[in-house]
Formats: sequence, C-alpha cells, structure tokens
Amino acid sequence: RSKANGGNHAEFYTADMGADTEEHLHIEASLQRALQREEFVLYYQPQVDVDSGRVVGLEALLRWQREGKELVLPADFIALAEETGLILPIGEWVLATAMRQLAAFHRSGMTHLRMSVNVSARQFQHNDVAAQVERLLEETGCAPGALTIEITETLLMERPGAAAEMMTRLSRMGVQLAIDDFCTGYSSLANLKRFPIRGLKIDRSFVADIATDNDDAAIVAAVIALARSMKLEVIAVGVETGEQQRFLRARGCRRMQGYRFGKPAPAADIEALLRSRHVDIPA
Ligand code: C2E
Ligand code: MG
Ligand code: MG
Repeated sequence: RSKANGGNHAEFYTADMGADTEEHLHIEASLQRALQREEFVLYYQPQVDVDSGRVVGLEALLRWQREGKELVLPADFIALAEETGLILPIGEWVLATAMRQLAAFHRSGMTHLRMSVNVSARQFQHNDVAAQVERLLEETGCAPGALTIEITETLLMERPGAAAEMMTRLSRMGVQLAIDDFCTGYSSLANLKRFPIRGLKIDRSFVADIATDNDDAAIVAAVIALARSMKLEVIAVGVETGEQQRFLRARGCRRMQGYRFGKPAPAADIEALLRSRHVDIPA
C-alpha cells in the first residue's frame, strides 16, 4: 500500500479482475442496474472545527446498497465506474443529491453548514460540471460558497487546460475548490498558484502515522504551514486518536474529519448530530 497511489484507495477491480472480462461485464451491468433501481445512497461525514466544537461541513460519500447485501464501499466500484464511464451519470446524481440534502439542512436551520462533494477527473473531462452546479444552485437556492468541490491532483496533472477552465468557471460562481488527498499525487506546488484553489485536504494515509513516523509528521507540519501562509483552508482527514488531534492542532490545523468525530452516516443520523449543535470533542 503505497501512499503515492493514494494508500486508502484499494484497487479492487483493476488488481483482481483486469483479465476477467466476464466478472467485469457482470459488475458493469449491476452498476447500470443500480442507477436505475436507485441503489446508490450518500453517507455524510462531519468536518469539525475542534476549537468551537461545531460541525462546519459535511463530506458526501457514495455507498452502494445492493438488495439484500452489505453496503458496498467506493473502493469496490468507483474505479470500474470511471473506466466504464458510468461515473458520469453517477457523479451527476451525487452532486444533485448532496446539494438537495444541503438545501434541506439549510431549511431546517443549519444555515452555516457546508457540503463537500468528490468529483473525479473523468467527470471534469466529459461532463460540464460547472453547468450542472449552476443548475443545481438555482434549483436548490444554496449559496455557491456553501459548496466545495473536491478534486485530486491527478486531474490537474492530466488535463491542466480543461481543468483550469472548469475550475475558473466554478470559482467565478463562488463555488470553493479543494485538493483532496493532498501530497499523494505527483503534481507541483505551483498548482496552488496556478489554479483557483481555496483549500487542501491532508490524506489520512499521512495523518495515520504522524505520531510514529517522523517523515509523515514533517510532511503534515509543512503542508499545514504552507496552507496557512497561502491563506488556504486545511482539513486533516482520518483523525482517530487524541495524539493525532493534538499534533494537528498544535501546528495550526483546526478543521478535522475522522472517526474520532464521526463516521460517515446516513442523512437522518447526521441530522441528529447537527441538532445537538456541538460534537463532543474528546480532550
Ligand atoms: P476521500 O474523498 O479521501 O474520502 C475520505 C475517505 O476516508 C472516506 O472513505 C472516509 O470514510 C474515510 N475516512 C474518514 N475518516 C476516517 C477515519 O478516521 N478512519 C478511517 N479508517 N477512514 C476514514 P470512503 O467513503 O470509503 O471513500 C473512499 C474514496 O472514494 C473517497 O476518498 C473518494 O476518493 C472516493 N469517493 C467517495 N464518494 C465519491 C463520489 O461520490 N464520487 C467520486 N468520484 N469519488 C468518491
Ligand atoms: Mg474527498
Ligand atoms: Mg482520500
């Protein structure tokens, strides 16, 4: 499991079934059916400000609820969805569902809440994500600044021209852009200047070992310092322990997302958490 490959992104399909065409076609067909049967669901994971104890945002995370089966995680189907192009209709569904949910949370009084949505490189290349977002902002009445689009460094690397154009349009609308899995790709720091980026997410493969691995600790500290001096928002993902929380906070990172503060959960469960206004931030 290499960090450079994203660490937590298990390559279920490509590694195990690359040559197994029958299995491939089978899953492709079930993904297609899943869209028609509306078997996809979004879970939401809180992003907290550890100083105030407030939930400042949610990240929408895709799940596949197959009839009578266990919940399927993105690692087991996103790669295939991208390869087959099914990520395009799925991604559009994700954007629409997340934004409608955000509007519902806003209507019930959580007006400060923000929503982060993962958008894959493929969607940026083949779909007019900016036009989709514009339509959904109009439909839902959400403020553009309440939406963050999370993209990966791969996108900036592979199609810099197309990426820049789409990002500029989104950013002119007031939508925020954040780089996900920061440091796991190979892109240059110059991207932070070149693209209209507002935030960085530190991947959990780095956060996991900050207490035990000096290199990871140094990288995470440097990323936080960089983000602060460039006035970028920084969120650490995968915070599970008090030691990790204290390390991050001591270096100036206030926003965190991780099992310590809440696992991804269905909207109804999240609503209960939001109603309590504050999450218990363990000391
Ligand atoms: P990501 O965007 O980096 O999302 C964070 C992942 O870390 C999520 O995994 C989340 O459940 C997990 N995580 C957060 N905190 C902790 C923690 O404290 N401990 C542990 N062990 N894990 C934690 P998930 O939901 O399995 O998603 C995996 C990846 O799949 C996401 O990584 C993202 O790259 C992709 N993905 C998820 N939903 C979508 C989507 O709607 N569209 C696209 N294109 N990709 C998606
Ligand atoms: Mg993400
Ligand atoms: Mg990640």
